[in-house]
Amino acid sequence: MVSKLDWADVTAQARALDVADPLGGFREEFALPAGIIYLDGNSLGPAPKAALSALETAAREEWATDLVTSWNHAGWFDLPSRCGDRIAPLIGADAGEVVSCDTVSLNIFKCLGAALQMRPDRRVIIAEAGSFPTDLYVTEGFLGLRPGLSLRLAEPDGAELSSLIDDDVAAVLVNQVDYRTGRVRDLPALTRTAHDAGAVVIWDLCHSAGVMEVGLNAAAADMAVGCSYKYLNGGPGAPAFVFAAERHHATIRQPLSGWWGHATPFDFTRSYRPDPGIRRFLCGTQPILSFRAMEAGLEIAGRAGIARVREKGKLLTQLFIDLVEAGCEGRVQLVSPRSAEDRGSQVAFAHPEGYAIVQALIARGVIGDFRNPDILRFGFAPLYLRHADVAEAARQFCAVVTGDVWRDPVYANRSAVT
Ligand SMILES: *Cc1c(COP(=O)(O)O)cnc(C)c1O
Repeated sequence: MVSKLDWADVTAQARALDVADPLGGFREEFALPAGIIYLDGNSLGPAPKAALSALETAAREEWATDLVTSWNHAGWFDLPSRCGDRIAPLIGADAGEVVSCDTVSLNIFKCLGAALQMRPDRRVIIAEAGSFPTDLYVTEGFLGLRPGLSLRLAEPDGAELSSLIDDDVAAVLVNQVDYRTGRVRDLPALTRTAHDAGAVVIWDLCHSAGVMEVGLNAAAADMAVGCSYKYLNGGPGAPAFVFAAERHHATIRQPLSGWWGHATPFDFTRSYRPDPGIRRFLCGTQPILSFRAMEAGLEIAGRAGIARVREKGKLLTQLFIDLVEAGCEGRVQLVSPRSAEDRGSQVAFAHPEGYAIVQALIARGVIGDFRNPDILRFGFAPLYLRHADVAEAARQFCAVVTGDVWRDPVYANRSAVT
């Protein structure tokens, strides 16, 4: 788009794209603070305005006034299924195949248990060494309970993950989009390879759900987990979700067999009998206020339509890459794939002083984040970001990097959450 970098011209072109943007109206539905450009929606999505009023109603009317009757009258007990059914079309699943609950970490544990129960004679779990660490930590904890099982790690610079799959492998735990680089894995191809070897795949959709098509059933996927507080804008600590293909429901068993996953929880019988469907992935009582907040984000995502969101996401990330590379004098290296098809809705650049650069940008109102060892990471959430925001963020980024603004020692102090 840019031959010679004239920022006034860049801004004018970006504004023209915003005027023609079919998703432009959705920005109004979010409570975004003035004066910032939020490129961290892949870590914590902003608050939908409807979520704030839903929280108020849930607290004052459903909890404070109606008390325990709200489990039935306000539909509290059905929220995990109802929210799961809203997520299903976003990830290519059918109603009744997704349930919202717990955290991604807990849901990974449940899925590992279910996969090992499906493949009791196999002894290996495959995961990615470069994965978001909780996936690995939970797997380690799971292995600690099951002597005889072992973990086979796919190294980022090592052999292709698919070449590690053999007939010892029970489960492959893999991310559709890498949380640092934004690289997209070929979900149908890897699922097929795993199935050919008789292994079960657990897809982690944390960085794809809500920003790109996932196509779980088209790929005959087995299980998946994902996060609702990132691109789905469900709120801090929003319930995660878990998918299991309908063909597995009759036989699949997960190890955290709490009363909410029982077929008839209010019979209070002595022994466990799983719900016939996806609710067998529930464990205990769910955080209802968080569910109420989350529903608003899911409703918006459904209305926007995932294909349009993905299209705009590709345009935004491409615009950012083009502008940064044209304006940063080669001082940062692109870490994300160059082809938009192979990239999620995020862009990562590397710079040895990445931490200080991100801090300097935040001081200027451009909020991205830093991931060890040297990654500057920017998320592009199409529901509320404008092309003009992306152009302005790129302008600030180039100014900080080329002007050495980041060298100010004030930007070197590290906080607990980066
Ligand atoms: C964000 C994220 C998680 C979050 O896990 P929680 O248990 O919900 O905190 C897990 N896995 C990946 C890949 C993530 O990006």
